[in-house]
Amino acid sequence: MTRRLSLALPSKGRLREPSWALLEASGVDPQEPGERVLQAHCRNADIDLLFVRADDVPEYVQDGVVDCGITGLDLIYERDRDVEVLLRLGYGSCSLQAAVPREDAATSLGDLAGRRIATSHPRTAARALADLGIEAELVKVGGAVEISPRLGLADAIIDLVSTGSTLRTNGLRPLGTLFESEAVLVGRVGDVDLEARDRLTMVLSSVINARASRYLLFNVDKSRLEEVTALLPTKGSPTIMDLATSGVVAVHALVPAVEIWNLLPALESLGASSILTLPVERMVP
Ligand code: AMP
Repeated sequence: MTRRLSLALPSKGRLREPSWALLEASGVDPQEPGERVLQAHCRNADIDLLFVRADDVPEYVQDGVVDCGITGLDLIYERDRDVEVLLRLGYGSCSLQAAVPREDAATSLGDLAGRRIATSHPRTAARALADLGIEAELVKVGGAVEISPRLGLADAIIDLVSTGSTLRTNGLRPLGTLFESEAVLVGRVGDVDLEARDRLTMVLSSVINARASRYLLFNVDKSRLEEVTALLPTKGSPTIMDLATSGVVAVHALVPAVEIWNLLPALESLGASSILTLPVERMVP
């Protein structure tokens, strides 16, 4: 029997909903927490849930308050906490970007040398600039970083960006990316009881892999089989089955979801018919 595992989840903000959806999709059957309830259990697994701010998760995991947690990679770097990244979760993607007012003459990150830059991620920004050999003055601000140039606080900003629309709305132009982030599952460094947390990592990764895949089925004339299978972007071997109609086979394969757009017309042009794509619930490679 594995021991109970404690998992910290973001209680609010951007990472809350997708983290909850991932846990639900994993089948552990988490108990919906009520208003202001900070703890809950899972009905289907020995997992205790603790709802805390995403910023606090790295510290809670580092200090052993919980075994694992879900948070943003950017928060681990900024808080400089010593935790082990167990799994990238494929949501909450954003990048730490430098930007200047549209009319500024700067065209690259190097042009930031000697200038004042406002950021609420001073540690990550300082590290990234040092790696690039750029010396600049960082001004730490708590929020509303985008308006700092307009207020005369700084010449440029370094901030998290996902779509870039906030930058555009504030008359800013991106100069380059300093750091890429996404939501991650983290665990304590040097944790000795790994069985329960390995199990959680495996189950969550099966959902993430499945989300990125589609199960593809189609029929094709046997004579075109070689051409068709050469086209399939699948790591494993496709399944080929004879149909009742002689000379025709059914092909089944797991393919990356992003390939579907190009794949379907290509298969059709090779004579494939009855093409179906199905979502996949779990995938353990
Ligand atoms: P929140 O609790 O809403 O402030 O979310 C914070 C986390 O969401 C960040 O630490 C990032 O990991 C992630 N995130 C994703 N996109 C963005 C974005 N455009 N701006 C800030 N955080 C983002």
